[in-house]
Amino acid sequence: MMTLGTLTANAQTGNEMTYTPQATTFRLTTLGNTQAVTLRIYNEGIGGKAAKTIKMSPAKDKTSWHATVKGDLKGKFYTFEVKVNGKLYGETPGIWAKAVGVNGKRGAIIDMKSTNPAGWSTDKRPAIAAKDLIIYELHHRDFSAARNINLDPQLHIKRVSSNYPGKFMALTEEWAIGHLKELGVNAVHILPSFDYASVDETRLNTPQYNWGYDPVNYNVPEGGYSTDPTKPEVRINEFKQMVQALHRAGIKVILDVVYNHTFNIDGSNFQRTMPDYFYRKNADGSYSNGSGCGNETASEQPLMRQFMVESVKYWVDEYHIDGFRFDLMGVHDIETMNAIRKAVPADIFIYGEGWSAGSCAYPQEKLGMKAHIQQMPGIAAFSDEMRDGLRGPWDGDDKTAFLGAVAGNEESVKYGIVGAISHPQVDMKKVNYADVAWASQPTQMIAYVSCHDDMCLVDRLKASIPGISESELIRLDQLGQTAVLTSQGVPFLLSGEELLRNKKGVHNSYESPDSINQLNWNNRFKYPQVFNYYRGLISLRKHHPAFHMGDADLVRRHLEFLPSQENVVAYRLKNHAGGDEWNNIYVVLNGSRKECVIDVPQGRYTVVVNCGFVNEKGIDVMEGTQIRIPSQTALIMHD
Ligand code: CA
Repeated sequence: MMTLGTLTANAQTGNEMTYTPQATTFRLTTLGNTQAVTLRIYNEGIGGKAAKTIKMSPAKDKTSWHATVKGDLKGKFYTFEVKVNGKLYGETPGIWAKAVGVNGKRGAIIDMKSTNPAGWSTDKRPAIAAKDLIIYELHHRDFSAARNINLDPQLHIKRVSSNYPGKFMALTEEWAIGHLKELGVNAVHILPSFDYASVDETRLNTPQYNWGYDPVNYNVPEGGYSTDPTKPEVRINEFKQMVQALHRAGIKVILDVVYNHTFNIDGSNFQRTMPDYFYRKNADGSYSNGSGCGNETASEQPLMRQFMVESVKYWVDEYHIDGFRFDLMGVHDIETMNAIRKAVPADIFIYGEGWSAGSCAYPQEKLGMKAHIQQMPGIAAFSDEMRDGLRGPWDGDDKTAFLGAVAGNEESVKYGIVGAISHPQVDMKKVNYADVAWASQPTQMIAYVSCHDDMCLVDRLKASIPGISESELIRLDQLGQTAVLTSQGVPFLLSGEELLRNKKGVHNSYESPDSINQLNWNNRFKYPQVFNYYRGLISLRKHHPAFHMGDADLVRRHLEFLPSQENVVAYRLKNHAGGDEWNNIYVVLNGSRKECVIDVPQGRYTVVVNCGFVNEKGIDVMEGTQIRIPSQTALIMHD
């Protein structure tokens, strides 16, 4: 690695281009051994020849280079090219372009203020505490690709048909907002929506699909999700309209960020600005691959850390983003994650994958792994213990667990129910993957049974339980999500699960066509009991603080597990838990293939969840000292 000396103090990485109608100033931060930097101005975002070529001037230590171009450059494009050790590294818009031309090859000179939609200055992040979040993870194209689906005229949303299929703007449409509000989620986690490589923005008329985990420009929205990627302002404006519409509906917007690797090394803006500075290397000089995608960034490098902090802050300030999901957070170092946490307001929700996809060229004990969450207050991680305790392990789609009546997963499910905190009744020796409870607070755990990775829940149940009937499939789907939506962690749903979505058995659908990935909207009326169950559970959770106490001590005091048979998890939320109006709430998850019986004190109980139905006002009244719960179902009641 290069010795950087005063580089950090001098760096102004967030400000490579400053436009005024009189002149535009360019400033690139580089390594001290940089020999020359060429600035090129273009009339086009792609193709054509440079209209101007300018040799930039170095600061004394050559770690920053400057140029001022007179005249009004609005509408023009620019690139930098550095020369280090006699080698030209190729043109780049730099690491801090805030607007780019099509496919992100050139920076764009625009007036950022002109990108704000009407009313943007009064747009506010909805005030929702971490403990109250219910997160819905969606891919723009999955959600809005479907055309002209007529739903039941009795429903609030009568028709699914977007004027902007697969675009940011779809999330401003009445049907889309209506669906999210009706379901009741209050945060939308959008899959990578910064500029990524794998969709060619010059041919959007041909069907293309990608999840987008291949970053190009970290601080610019993806062009493929805009209505016109050739006009740099459009994607910025449309992204803001999306945020504004969701905020108006009381829904937070969480961005999936992928700072852990880039699309490639040689072509990346990092490499073309400061060769070899931003990537970790192995002892033998080869690039480390902790991301499993060919490279791994070095968050411990001062300028990479600063870049991540400033980039996250930029999305909060410019785009009013409410939260961040860090892809492979285990590749980043703890210090950087804590610096990010400190740099943004407390209401910004931060969580990540507490693992890496390969071994990292950095000491394991310093990485943002799930096991180190207690060293990262205010940051959450996904619980694969809960996910796999329910659906089965990650290393085989044909394997099942609690939902498939495989005994021995009860403690993993219980661990997910308490929100990954230590609890006297959770035996950590019997929890999969974790030896010690890794969360200090339940809001540090993401509760989920499925996400975009791996099979969706329906496909997994089908693959792992041969011959499963449709009614059994629905029962187990509902049972799995009951665990998620009654967990003290932060519940997280893959978009479309409420529609009994399937992906035709495709495990990794990152580039599959719409026929695989688009939501099964017809299921909205084909399986109303599924949507209604999800909606009912979400509403129940929102109205009852007992299910999301948000404090580890309260959970330990008020959540008590009850003796039960194999493949059953039963617990009581006692004594007005979390200030709940209900005195004692009983939750029973019966994953076994037979009826179970749970002993309760003599009393008169109102049943609010039973056999796939939810009604907060009460489905039934039960008196006595025993509850009987049919196989593969959940029951919730209170006294
Ligand atoms: Ca792109």
